[in-house]
Amino acid sequence: MHDIRAGLMRVRERIAAAAERAGRRADDVLLIAVSKTVEAERIREAIEAGVVALGENRVQEAKAKIATLGRPVPWHLIGHLQTNKVKDALALFDVIQSIDRLEVARECERRAAGAGRPVDVLLEVNVGNEPSKSGFAPDAVAAALDAIGGMAHLKVRGLMAIPPAVERPEESRPAFRALRALAERHGLGELSMGMSGDFEVAVEEGATMVRVGTAIFGPRPPRAAA
Ligand SMILES: *Cc1c(COP(=O)(O)O)cnc(C)c1O
Repeated sequence: MHDIRAGLMRVRERIAAAAERAGRRADDVLLIAVSKTVEAERIREAIEAGVVALGENRVQEAKAKIATLGRPVPWHLIGHLQTNKVKDALALFDVIQSIDRLEVARECERRAAGAGRPVDVLLEVNVGNEPSKSGFAPDAVAAALDAIGGMAHLKVRGLMAIPPAVERPEESRPAFRALRALAERHGLGELSMGMSGDFEVAVEEGATMVRVGTAIFGPRPPRAAA
């Protein structure tokens, strides 16, 4: 069995070293432990080992786990959100990182207004303009922010991206840099970027949140496509 505590400690050390290389404070980077496919008992172990935020990419899967574990730490939704799951998502998650189209933003606004509480969100940017990926194209972000600016219950804290797959982590650097420039242009503070394969480069390029699964929990079993 993969040692979660050791995995977590090692990831923390690597974040700290990357932050230091970039003249940043490790405390300014939130480590989100991505627990998709990981069962509740092992997530509990991670929380006991000191995980301070969790990430899930499916509402239904998270719902079952949150029923077991509660919300001792914030849960972030990091996967594509269907409009018919928005109501559940708002009840379960503290942050929705995957606002990837205006339709889902509008539905979040409608539901958040109905519940009478604001919701923290990130806009997902398709930073590589990949046809297979969801998210706003970089040149559509300005218009999206304009539209969402009129939605009183949506608090846009920053941008999130999954850059194109690469062979070596270093190759993600230009995408991370582009995302950072886009966030800065719009005065957005949070940058969610970097996964197990490339989080150190992301930290060097200014990530304020990294989303790390495999490096903490070990390899995931393959699962059928949704
Ligand atoms: C699965 C996933 C991650 C974590 O991936 P690892 O390579 O296991 O660290 C990060 N972000 C998103 C959106 C994911 O779906």
